[in-house]
Amino acid sequence: MRLRLVTGNAHKLQEFGSILRGLDCWLPLDKLDVEGVVECGATYYQNAYRKARSGLLSVLTTGPDDCIVLADDSGLELPLFDNMPGSHSARFRYASLSERAALAAFLSEYRVSSTPARFVCWIVAFLPGSCRCLACSGAVAGTVTPESRGSQGFGYDPLFTPDGYSLTFGEMHAGLKDRISHRAQAVEALWCSLQGAAPLRP
Ligand code: IMP
Repeated sequence: MRLRLVTGNAHKLQEFGSILRGLDCWLPLDKLDVEGVVECGATYYQNAYRKARSGLLSVLTTGPDDCIVLADDSGLELPLFDNMPGSHSARFRYASLSERAALAAFLSEYRVSSTPARFVCWIVAFLPGSCRCLACSGAVAGTVTPESRGSQGFGYDPLFTPDGYSLTFGEMHAGLKDRISHRAQAVEALWCSLQGAAPLRP
């Protein structure tokens, strides 16, 4: 049995691997490329479900259904701005800039030097031999600033400082982010559910 993560994001694959190792998960993980999944859902759950279901269909057409197919959808929410960009995080555009530069420019324009924020992650996992799926979520609270600090991680990491820390996710070594992140919490919840939901050990 193995885990197949539907993603085109190498950072996410690396983070999932590191988080699973931290949980002593013995299942091997690999990447499943699925073309053309449109993230048009209104929620993280809907987008994660669409990605995971596309992965499941691709696995079913190419061989036996002997793996857990999973996908995540995640984003950054700013409560003072109606939780934007939220599930639209990958498509947040402002003055034609990339997502991180766009958020920094947006905050600067509104003269926001620091504002509460949270990262949210939802994971949907299809279990082998059935069309049953599990959904788990995680969130981490903190603040964002327009100043970028650090070069670790991806996306909005250099703008986000989790509560209780002085370093941004972009400044932290990966091991620390992978213990406390929204993704870490969602993966841990999934791992607990999987052990209860399926006879994983041979
Ligand atoms: P998606 O889950 O691939 O749709 O991610 C949406 C967007 O949210 C990404 O393009 C990133 O900008 C942002 N995002 C999600 N998770 C993280 C994270 O762990 N760090 C930084 N940015 C993230």
